Amino acid sequence: MTAPTPHHDRADLTCDVLVVGAGTAGFGAALAAARAGLSVHLIEAGTKVGGVMAFCPGMPWGGGYPLGRSIGGIFAELTDRLRACAPPAAEVRPCALENFGPEVQYDHELATLTMFDMLLEAGVRLHLGCLVGNPVTVDHRITEVACTDRRGPWRIRPRCVVDTSGDGDLSARAGVPYTVGDGVGNMMAVTLSFHMVGVDCERAFADGDPYFRSHAAQGIAQGRLHPDLHKLYLMRGFHPGSVFCNTVTLRGVDGTRPEAVAQATQEGRRRCAQVARFLVDAVPGFERAQMWGLGPTVGVRETRKLEAVYRLSGADLAQSTHFADGIVACDNPIDDVMRSTAEMTHEAAVARGSYYTIPLRSLIPRHITNLLFAGRLICADPVAFASVRGMPQCMAMGQACGVAAAQALAAGQAVQDIDTARVVATLQKQGLRGLGAHQLADLAPEAPGWA
Ligand SMILES: Cc1cc2nc3c(=O)[nH]c(=O)nc-3n(C[C@H](O)[C@H](O)[C@H](O)COP(=O)(O)OP(=O)(O)OC[C@H]3O[C@@H](n4cnc5c(N)ncnc54)[C@H](O)[C@@H]3O)c2cc1C
Repeated sequence: MTAPTPHHDRADLTCDVLVVGAGTAGFGAALAAARAGLSVHLIEAGTKVGGVMAFCPGMPWGGGYPLGRSIGGIFAELTDRLRACAPPAAEVRPCALENFGPEVQYDHELATLTMFDMLLEAGVRLHLGCLVGNPVTVDHRITEVACTDRRGPWRIRPRCVVDTSGDGDLSARAGVPYTVGDGVGNMMAVTLSFHMVGVDCERAFADGDPYFRSHAAQGIAQGRLHPDLHKLYLMRGFHPGSVFCNTVTLRGVDGTRPEAVAQATQEGRRRCAQVARFLVDAVPGFERAQMWGLGPTVGVRETRKLEAVYRLSGADLAQSTHFADGIVACDNPIDDVMRSTAEMTHEAAVARGSYYTIPLRSLIPRHITNLLFAGRLICADPVAFASVRGMPQCMAMGQACGVAAAQALAAGQAVQDIDTARVVATLQKQGLRGLGAHQLADLAPEAPGWA
């Protein structure tokens, strides 16, 4: 047997910051760290940036406008770049569901291209089609991380790691304790999305029910739709005549198990085709429509939640807590999708006109001194998790970790010892809004529908 060829061009890769996973959180983290002058490698298993945004193309960015004001930062920069395109490639619009604030709908391809451009402009080294494996941990520090791509295994030695992988495999292997889903193992359902194009939207959305409940009931009664599809969640897409179908949702799938995700995706394809056929046959406005843009895999909402210095709770949200180390504002509802039953609920998290902030300490592990994490693996109880997980908040969490990593490396400090007030002050300078003593209500509303 011949030994595998070593990859000398990268066998000894070193960097300041390794970001694991190029979802919205990884995008924010890599960009912020590179803009702080650090050498950054961003490693993504898939072939695109975006994470859930790439797996469910067309998914709107929700939660970016608490009180009708932008959260600011990298999220606002990306949105503004898209809105400045000719013609505009993004728009801010009201969400059709109760208790959700305005959302951003955008051209998926131009948004992805712009994210790639922003990473390149900042000098981020992006690796696609590459899986991050086991870390080596010495004295509570990650010293080395194993990676694999089609050329075989290689290693990287980072000074600091930001885990934005959604599932947190690396952090779990490094010994960070975690809980799964609601704490007793129920995880939110996964969804395979698609578009219908060629829709007469005026007729399709004439009756005003975003869940198309009477049609759904008819489809289930006729045995044409799966019983879990009692709410057909359909929304206008970005392009005229397109409808984004965020509706084929499968319960009881463990998103950390590749075989479970693959099986759910295959079953999802079957149900998406059933829904598309049903819409054409039974729902006015869809007569001439076609299915388009089926996601490459199901989007996974919830798996591990890593243990951190602080666990954000539902009580913190109910009290509209503004933490001293708050790094992003949020007023998203408790958006629970079929954890244990087939119900989708979105009760308000905060009183109207108020918001809470997400503390940096929920992104800092207790013991590993050169690891931060951001995005949907945040340390939060099941109630708080259901609210914090919007893509704008994930981008901002990533941005905060990029800034915190730069500060820790410059000071030669453990992440647990960083001056969180300085991180918040830097984020404010970078345009994050509603933090510290600053109140979103003091700013003029920008989104439609806010007085
Ligand atoms: C179906 C669905 C609907 C949603 N609806 C909305 C909505 O309308 N609006 C909204 O704002 N939010 C919505 N959300 C929530 C939001 O999309 C997610 O919470 C958010 O995108 C999570 O971002 P993330 O970067 O933390 O993780 P992810 O998007 O999951 O990204 C993690 C990335 O890490 C990569 N990765 C994982 N492990 C490894 C590894 N070992 N090596 C290399 N790469 C790895 C993955 O491939 C992935 O690209 C929805 C989520 C889902 C699933």
